[in-house]
Amino acid sequence: MKKLLSKLIRLLFICIILLTIAFTVGINLPTENFEQKTTNISKLYLKNARIIDIKNGKVSESQNITIIDGRIIKIDSTDENPTEFQVIDIKNKYVMPTLWDMHVHTLSLSPQLHFPLLIANGVTNIRDMGDGDSWISDLDKPLEKDKLIWEAAAKNGLLMPRIWESCSYHVEELEDISPKDLVTGLKARNEPFIKLQLEDSELPAATFYALQSEAKKQQIKILGHLSCNVDIDTVLQNGYRSIEHAWALIPHFVKEKKRFEKDLETKAYELNNQDLVLTNSVLKKIANSNTYYCPTNVTSNRKEALVFDKEFTESPHNEYVETVQLKLWRLWASLHKSGYDKPEQQAILRNYYRKGLEITDLAHKNGVKILAGTDALDRYVYHGFSLHDELVELTKAGLSNAEALKTATITPSEYYQVTADYGSIEEGKIADLLILEKNPLEEISNTKSIEAVYFNQQLYEKQDLDSMKNYVREQAKSFSISCKFLWNMLKGMF
Ligand SMILES: [Zn+2]
Repeated sequence: MKKLLSKLIRLLFICIILLTIAFTVGINLPTENFEQKTTNISKLYLKNARIIDIKNGKVSESQNITIIDGRIIKIDSTDENPTEFQVIDIKNKYVMPTLWDMHVHTLSLSPQLHFPLLIANGVTNIRDMGDGDSWISDLDKPLEKDKLIWEAAAKNGLLMPRIWESCSYHVEELEDISPKDLVTGLKARNEPFIKLQLEDSELPAATFYALQSEAKKQQIKILGHLSCNVDIDTVLQNGYRSIEHAWALIPHFVKEKKRFEKDLETKAYELNNQDLVLTNSVLKKIANSNTYYCPTNVTSNRKEALVFDKEFTESPHNEYVETVQLKLWRLWASLHKSGYDKPEQQAILRNYYRKGLEITDLAHKNGVKILAGTDALDRYVYHGFSLHDELVELTKAGLSNAEALKTATITPSEYYQVTADYGSIEEGKIADLLILEKNPLEEISNTKSIEAVYFNQQLYEKQDLDSMKNYVREQAKSFSISCKFLWNMLKGMF
């Protein structure tokens, strides 16, 4: 018996050593980026394009688009075959601007796991709401931002979307630091904005306002979740660049707010006590302020409601999700399902999700500026693919196909005040083009019928887009990537 036990201990010891060696090797194996095309197409002539007019929600008759050095020089219908240009006839195909996802999260492994998927899905512009690996909550520690590393690598061919902003600090609570010192510290390390992440805790209202006024004083944007206890008028007066997620807004439509916790009882209370007059007045105030709304319908309250459906959890997109991450998603799904196993509980979750869609519709009707965002990296939200699902959600909420397209094109470019260059297909603008087989104004899911993407003077045709997806599929199941993913996660915990 004693002999057997010592044998077992020895075996266990050997296994641990072997696993440690394998893990160390996995972490240190070099990662290979997606092999990019190297030939730029600086002179492109697209013949017979049917252009989606984003501003007016119309489609043009057959037009020719002349592009030089990545910019649209001319759009006309005179038929010519210019020399020195790569001429492509896209008869019966539709052209619209490439898409923006205004709420994405990244990791240092994003060049392997996320960027090719974004480009393959025509999403070439993102707002990075939190880079998970350059997360340093200690303001005195030096910060090595992934975005800077990627941008340097992009000069040598790394495939990546245009990242307009990338934040690496979430304000969840203020411990031992004053609002002034926090804002000063974040400004000093060049954070693009201050993101309030009030999911499991809420700031005292006075602290919320103090952060806002300090941000205003030091001229840095502040945005994110809303505390339940804040007065929306004061928040808007102090300046709040964007409100993120439907769940953060819903509590503000009840006269007597219950409490912050997002438990089932609170959800039921908010559903039963929504005041429509108050709702419309709050939304009207948001519309009249300079505040945008990014509902992230595709994740906010949706996964909690749909996770009971096998089709939802067994999405074909799972093959693009890193193995460890997918296991964590599945663990969450089974815990959630066992926690809400009664039909009446699931009915509340479904109604809360529908309430979010209803609010998106009311917000839109009241003139709130809506941004398409997915919260990709969150459970069962997929970089690139989910932006198309968000467009579907927006139309489910009540926006027309044309209005939904605006939230992922012209409205984000208004947010960044770059409409002179981005957001629609017009002479003088940057040629970020999505070529589609079918018309998205007729059916919103036609944004998925991607024939080609023209971005950064590169033309990615169907086979290129497929190879981007294949590359991510392989990376997501690679042993080395899993070791790195796990290692980064462990480093972030301690
Ligand atoms: Zn987020």
